[in-house]
Amino acid sequence: MQNALAAFAPPKDQFLRLADTGDFSTDNGRPIDDQVGMCETAFAKRLRRQLRDELGHRARRTAAPGPVLLAFHPSVVAQVFSLYPFGLYSTAMTLGDATRASEILDWYDRHRRTMLWRAPSGVRPDPYAVWLSEIMLQQTTVATVGPYFTEFISRWPTVAALAAAELDDVLHAWQGLGYYARARNLHRCANIISESFGGHFPEDEDALLSLPGVGPYTAAAIRAIAFGQRAVVVDGNVERVMARLYRETDPLPDVKGKLRDHADELTPGTRPGDYAQAVMDLGATVCIPQRPKCMLCPWTAHCHGKDIAESLPARRPKPEKPTRRGTIFWIERPDGSVLVRRRPEKGLLGGMMEFPSTEWREGAREGDVSALSRHAPLTAMKWYPIAGVVHHVFTHFRLELKVLKGHVAQNTEAPSDTRWSTIDGLSDLALPTAMKKVAEKAIGGG
Ligand code: SF4
Repeated sequence: MQNALAAFAPPKDQFLRLADTGDFSTDNGRPIDDQVGMCETAFAKRLRRQLRDELGHRARRTAAPGPVLLAFHPSVVAQVFSLYPFGLYSTAMTLGDATRASEILDWYDRHRRTMLWRAPSGVRPDPYAVWLSEIMLQQTTVATVGPYFTEFISRWPTVAALAAAELDDVLHAWQGLGYYARARNLHRCANIISESFGGHFPEDEDALLSLPGVGPYTAAAIRAIAFGQRAVVVDGNVERVMARLYRETDPLPDVKGKLRDHADELTPGTRPGDYAQAVMDLGATVCIPQRPKCMLCPWTAHCHGKDIAESLPARRPKPEKPTRRGTIFWIERPDGSVLVRRRPEKGLLGGMMEFPSTEWREGAREGDVSALSRHAPLTAMKWYPIAGVVHHVFTHFRLELKVLKGHVAQNTEAPSDTRWSTIDGLSDLALPTAMKKVAEKAIGGG
C-alpha cells in the first residue's frame, strides 16, 4: 500500500485545491471545470478514493482523530495526514467527517452555481454583498433575487451609499421581494454599520447578532463566507441534507437541534465559506425536496436516508391559516388622484403605503356599504362596491379585501396622515403586493 501510494504521490500542495491567491477563505468565481490549470490532478483524486475506500468504512466517530488514526498502519496514517493536514480541517472532526467535507468541496469546485454575489477569481468576498444577498435570499428564490441584487448594488454600491438612501427609495426598490420588514431592517442596519462600525461589517458573532435583521443564520453566513471563519450555517437546504444524510425522522422543528449538531460536526476549519455554500448548493440542485438526484450526490455512499429521502425532513402538519377580512376605501378626485396613507412603521407591512381601509380582522365580513362607509376617512358622494374580493396570502394568514370606490370634490383636502397620489404616481410609491392588487381591481374593475 505504501509503495503504491508513494508512486502516485504528487507534491503535497496539489492535493488540496486552493484559491489562486493561496487564500483558503475564498475561491474563484467559476467552477473548476471552467478553469485551466486549477483542476485537482487525476492521480490525487484516485489516491483520495483509494484511501477513502480503505478508511472510510472503518473510521469511528470520536472527539479527536488521533485514536482513530492509530488503528491503521503507519503508512496509511502518514498519507491521511498529507491529505487532511491538521490546521486545514478541524482537529475536532472525525476522519469520516473530514472525508465528507473534502468530498463536497471537490464536488463544489466542479458544480457550484455561478451567482452574482459570489466573489470572482482572486477577490475576497465583499461583506456588503454577502450580507445584502443573504438578507434578500431569506424566504426568496435565487432566481427572484438576481435582478434585485443587481439593482441594489448598482444604485447603492457600498453600505454607506445604502445608509444615505431615503427609506422610501429602498422600500420602493424592494417591491416584489415581500417581507418588507427586511427592507426596513436593511436600511437601519446600513445606518448602524456606517455610524457605529466605521462602515465595516463586524466579524464578531455577538456584534453581528446585534444588527437589525441579522439572526443566527445570517451572522453565520457572513462569518463563514465573508470572513472565512468556521461558522455553522444552517438554512432550510442544509436541514434537508442533514436530515437525509443522518436519517433523522423526527419532525421539524423538534429535530432542529440534532440537524444543527450534524452540520456542526461536518463543518471543516478550512474553506468554511465554500463548504457552507457547497451544502446549500447541494440542497438546491441535487438533494432537492422531490426526486433528489442521489446518483449525482457526492455523499451518496454515506447517506443513511436516501431510500426515504422524499419524506425527510418530516414536518408536523401546519395549522390552517386563518382568514382576515377588511374593506379598502378607494377615494378618487375628479382629476384621478387617489387617497393613500403610510402604514405604521412597526408591524405588518410597516412603513409601506396603502389605501385607507378598515381594520383587517378574522370573522365574518363587516356590514353593508352604509355601515362600512362610516369608517372611511372622507365622505364620498356615493360609494360603489366593486364586485369580487382581492385575495392575498401572508405568512400567517389569508387576507380578503372588499373594495369600495367613492368620488369626492376636486378641492377636497387630504385628512391628516393621508395624501393624494396620481394614478401614474402610484408606481413610484412603496406599495406592497396586496395594495397593487387592490389598485388593479379598482382601476380595472370599477
Ligand atoms: S444521497 Fe440523496 S438523499 Fe442523500 S444527501 Fe445525497 S441527494 Fe440527499
